[in-house]
Amino acid sequence: MRLKDKVILITGSGSGIGKSTALLFGSEGATVIVNDLSEEKGEETAAEIRAAGGEAIYRKADVTDPAAISAMVEDIIKLYGRIDVLFNNAGISGVGALHELEPELWDKVVNVNIRGVYIPSKYVLPHMMERKSGSIINMSSCIAEIGLARRAVYAATKGAVLALTKSMQVDYADYNIRVNALLPGTIMTPFVEDYLRKSYDDPEEAYEGLRKRQLSGELGRPEDVAKAALFLASDESKFMMGSPLYIDGGAVFGKKA
Ligand code: NAD
Repeated sequence: MRLKDKVILITGSGSGIGKSTALLFGSEGATVIVNDLSEEKGEETAAEIRAAGGEAIYRKADVTDPAAISAMVEDIIKLYGRIDVLFNNAGISGVGALHELEPELWDKVVNVNIRGVYIPSKYVLPHMMERKSGSIINMSSCIAEIGLARRAVYAATKGAVLALTKSMQVDYADYNIRVNALLPGTIMTPFVEDYLRKSYDDPEEAYEGLRKRQLSGELGRPEDVAKAALFLASDESKFMMGSPLYIDGGAVFGKKA
């Protein structure tokens, strides 16, 4: 019960890493607010947590929409009185080198991946500041540190999230609010399956290539990232401030050849 009595909002937790984290947090005693654009997937995550004996509700809101997010946050405060942890997890991919990328796709990825961290933080932070307590986890990616083919806009947004994390930490340290970033490597989720389908003629071969790139020899699983998020959400990480936490099977710091 490492998260006993904590009220935790996880954006984009209807699928992949967010869902896995929501299930783990629920089993560790947290009250989980599952947020996702997809009502079906979000309700499913919340129902799975409750079926396992945990506490969870689903709230629909687009992370880029100030009105929807501020209404969701006020609703959570009315119900539970506080938000102890905000996990800014929702994100989308965008495939293509810059000359191939349409401006509409650029804007969409920038909007969801950067504004989608700003907006939930903007509305949750005043409540954390009032209580002088909180932990915010921002979803970056190891692509913030290394160049990967045809992922320019995605990389730009995840680099921005890492920079934003450090600045946020400085601004809110005096309020006893910690802000850290997760930098996963390639984790097998619907997001990566979609990327493989859109980027390669032979997704199976591409998958093998990704697998071999890892020092671990395997891609990560959503549970691997969920466990790192659990550490950042819990008080066990109280001396981590403004830090990147890598969960990448050696992708950033190691090279096989
Ligand atoms: P996923 O596609 O499985 O899940 C993302 C969820 O976010 C979906 O359920 C989607 O409906 C929701 N979402 C999208 N836009 C939203 C919006 N505007 N408002 C609310 N919800 C929205 O993806 P995933 O692989 O679990 O990725 C989660 C996060 O982890 C993303 O930020 C991604 O960039 C990051 N990440 C993933 C990997 C990986 O390899 N899978 C690696 C590094 C970082």
